[in-house]
Amino acid sequence: MNKQNYREILLTYTKKAYENKLFAGTSGNLSIYDDENDCIYITPSSIPYENMTCEDMVVITMDGTVLEGKHQPSSEWKLHTNIYKERKEIKAVVHTHSPYATTFAVANMPIPMILVEMLPSIGDTVQVAGFALPGDEKVGIEAVKALEGRKGCLLKNHGAVAIGEEIESAYITAVYIEDAARIYYLASTVGTVGEIPEEQLEIFRQRMK
Ligand code: 13P
Ligand code: ZN
Repeated sequence: MNKQNYREILLTYTKKAYENKLFAGTSGNLSIYDDENDCIYITPSSIPYENMTCEDMVVITMDGTVLEGKHQPSSEWKLHTNIYKERKEIKAVVHTHSPYATTFAVANMPIPMILVEMLPSIGDTVQVAGFALPGDEKVGIEAVKALEGRKGCLLKNHGAVAIGEEIESAYITAVYIEDAARIYYLASTVGTVGEIPEEQLEIFRQRMK
């Protein structure tokens, strides 16, 4: 992929996430890993999404040095780089503050396996990563632990993280995390929440192989 394509595709999914209310204000951030050049394309810090353009995207090395861009990179760049360092198959990270997912992050409640689409999109239950102050290295350290064996997690008192082998799937996982959280919340207001039985999940896992 050439440089302009990275910028364009990052902008496309950033706008989609904003339009779909996965984050409010200037919160949230997305990145794509360029494995040929060992650098990442990441959204700028604290820039309104409405008028964001390809030129606003920032290119940084894995230690945060800015290679290209007129803005500061997202303050969560260490979250993104730590995921790429620890999960070699991952090429895109979408960090949201989507409201229902963040509700469970605040309540410190993992989301159990309640919907069949959670298995292909997230891979398992959605766990809550330990608390860390925004921008600290600890955000990424705790997130990697909570992401073990899956493609999404919650960040305690903060938001959610979705990861993927490309930005399209990371984005869809972010949407499904919010969908699962919303349905879990709604189901718990009308009755007892039923989880998918483990033996059925195992059959489904085998079918997906
Ligand atoms: P940035 O605007 O620096 O990306 O920060 C937003 C955010 O979500 C912090 O956790
Ligand atoms: Zn955040």
